Amino acid sequence: MIPVAFEYQRATTVEEAIAALSSGDGKILAGGHSLLPAMKLRLNQPAKLVDISKIDSLKGIREEDGEIVIGAGTTHGDIASNDLIKSKLPFFAEAASWIGDVQVRNYGTIGGSLAHADPAADWGALVLAADAAIITQNTNTSRRIAATEFFQGLFTTALEEGEIITEIRVPVPAEGTKTNYQKFSQPASRFAIVGCAVMKKPDGKTSIAFTGLSEAPFRDTAAESAASTEAAVAAAAEDITIMSDHFASEEYRKHLAKVYLKKALHALA
Ligand SMILES: Cc1cc2nc3c(=O)[nH]c(=O)nc-3n(C[C@H](O)[C@H](O)[C@H](O)COP(=O)(O)OP(=O)(O)OC[C@H]3O[C@@H](n4cnc5c(N)ncnc54)[C@H](O)[C@@H]3O)c2cc1C
Repeated sequence: MIPVAFEYQRATTVEEAIAALSSGDGKILAGGHSLLPAMKLRLNQPAKLVDISKIDSLKGIREEDGEIVIGAGTTHGDIASNDLIKSKLPFFAEAASWIGDVQVRNYGTIGGSLAHADPAADWGALVLAADAAIITQNTNTSRRIAATEFFQGLFTTALEEGEIITEIRVPVPAEGTKTNYQKFSQPASRFAIVGCAVMKKPDGKTSIAFTGLSEAPFRDTAAESAASTEAAVAAAAEDITIMSDHFASEEYRKHLAKVYLKKALHALA
């Protein structure tokens, strides 16, 4: 459980971090709560870690140009306790407060979680349901990637080599929007065996996203277009390849998806 030797560099600006990454087989270190366990298991053996945890510009939450902007280096704990998030995106605050334990919430970051793209992580379903965009930066360019384009498979995202997530931008929900997040968690880690995020707009449009079910989080468009709660529940998780592991079989995961969607829709009714 000892990682291979690596070089360590602490960056104080995004530009410094990008420059450090361009000079070799480097990886970003944010909260370390996914990367370091993987390194200890030697699933990941970077030659260099570039620590971005002290870059102030990557932290914090603000409202700007009709969007809620969450710095990629903001911890789950800071999101859970933020007043703007609690009032405008309450399901982000709820979900963040259920992630792992207090140590994980105090170190783990939203950017680290999105970049890692663990199929059982909570943030994927939330950013999808909220129509968020992931903002990235590399040496030459900044990109704005829709959450629906970001997740590409198991631990796989649209991020390119040397690219850093700097912000997550969420359109400010219209007055009267309701949100809910329901999760059936793995009892030891609290990772989602199934997590269901729902956002219902005042015009009745509902976005529904799941995590934990398949190799990547996804928007369930069949459930979204259903005309009633019963029809949405019947349509949910029908057209995807569902994972099966020692925590839950494919059949049980599908059942949980329907139950947790029903709970979320009832909570919003
Ligand atoms: C005991 C335990 C319980 C947990 N429970 C849950 C849970 O209930 N729900 C849940 O969702 N998660 C859970 N997690 C995961 C936790 O949320 C991690 O903190 C998170 O997945 C990774 O964030 P990090 O900041 O620690 O990233 P790190 O571990 O530092 O990095 C993870 C990966 O992302 C890359 N990276 C980091 N930041 C950026 C960035 N800004 N731009 C580009 N790449 C970046 C790194 O290079 C690395 O590849 C748990 C973890 C542990 C150890």
